[in-house]
Amino acid sequence: LSDATTDLDELATRLDREYVFHSWSAQKALAPVVIAGGSGSVVWDHAGKRYLDFSSQLVNVNIGHQHPAVIEAIHRQADQLATVGPSAANLTRGEAAKRIVARAPEGFSKVFFTNGGADAIENAIRMARLHTGRDKVLSTYRSYHGNTGAAIVATGDWRRMPNEFARGHVHFFGPYLYRSEFWATTPEEESARALQHLRRVIQSEGPGTIAAILLESVPGTAGILIPPPGYLAGVRALADEYDILLILDEVMAGFGRTGRWFAFQGYDVVPDLITFAKGVNSGYVPVGGVIIPDRIAATFDERVFPGGLTYSGHPLAAASIVGALDAMESEGIVENARRIGTEKLGPGLRELAEKHEAIGEVRGEGVFWALELVADRETREPLPAAAIGKLKSALVSRGLLPFQADNRIHVVPPCVVTDDEVDEALAIYDDAFAAAL
Ligand code: PLP
Repeated sequence: LSDATTDLDELATRLDREYVFHSWSAQKALAPVVIAGGSGSVVWDHAGKRYLDFSSQLVNVNIGHQHPAVIEAIHRQADQLATVGPSAANLTRGEAAKRIVARAPEGFSKVFFTNGGADAIENAIRMARLHTGRDKVLSTYRSYHGNTGAAIVATGDWRRMPNEFARGHVHFFGPYLYRSEFWATTPEEESARALQHLRRVIQSEGPGTIAAILLESVPGTAGILIPPPGYLAGVRALADEYDILLILDEVMAGFGRTGRWFAFQGYDVVPDLITFAKGVNSGYVPVGGVIIPDRIAATFDERVFPGGLTYSGHPLAAASIVGALDAMESEGIVENARRIGTEKLGPGLRELAEKHEAIGEVRGEGVFWALELVADRETREPLPAAAIGKLKSALVSRGLLPFQADNRIHVVPPCVVTDDEVDEALAIYDDAFAAAL
């Protein structure tokens, strides 16, 4: 390689553009930000240019960057045993599973570890199909469940369409009052009508053909769509009525993001299977999994579970889970997310919306917020892509990494974000909105 340059940011950019093929992108016009290091809610490039990470990367770095307890746990495990097959018993893997089960509702007793969120969904769907002997999976159009066979077809958004090679998936509309599919004007109306719609979809598909309803507890990438009163409890009741399993996808919403260990714990619902990834260890090592209750695990007491992965329960991932969950507990990190959301971030974003016409709605909880951007508050016409692009550049150039999806900016800092960092970020959003729009 002719890499004689001493400018490491330039080298990182050059190597990236020459050799790295990126996700979900047309490759030619990409210009990724260089990130060389980080701490807490801040990252920097090689030259030391600092950014507030209000994306938590892909909404997964819940414990913040380079938490010393997680790094230390990985180091210690690497020194002892850096890899082991999934069929062995391993102490660290068991400790990780025990800590995850301890935070789940009563009756959940086992963890099946995967490499990330998508394969957690794959395996939850597989378990639901084998447990019920049925085939179909119902999920919402406004959802993202991952980029593998069944997970991408369960996904509702545009990423499903070029990938529709799995069968047995049916989509329906979930509640989203700001852009209601049900002509609703109150959260209660939206909830009741969305439930009636789901009932009709179940009846029309044939309840006896449906293995599971799969929902993100709080749809994340689709816009941080906080479920209206009674919706998730109503879905639970429908699932019970028709003997269908309820899988709640906690990959993005789980492990602190909403200010609770699991998002569903705020919505009076207990699922049959829980999928997780991201926040469980903040992505320091790739991992995900399915949390399984006794009665579903028992299906596979005598019968072989036809699924597995070379790296299921990888010891470095397991160690990072133990380190992350213990630190989150002892340092009150989930409580910090809740407090920041209620006291600082929520009120600050609502104030921002009073100043800037382009913010049509602010919604969220904990460190999980969306700003829905519109060209016109009356018609709610989405702000055009060119304007969103300008805003995004204005944020990055002012030292804030935003998370953007469609016509929205998601405000999703790590759960460890401080009051001062929120103040700094709010000032940057304010300034960037004023300059760009
Ligand atoms: N489910 C949800 C709700 C997600 O947000 C994601 C990723 O963003 C996934 C599943 C897929 O996870 P992964 O990218 O780790 O495969």
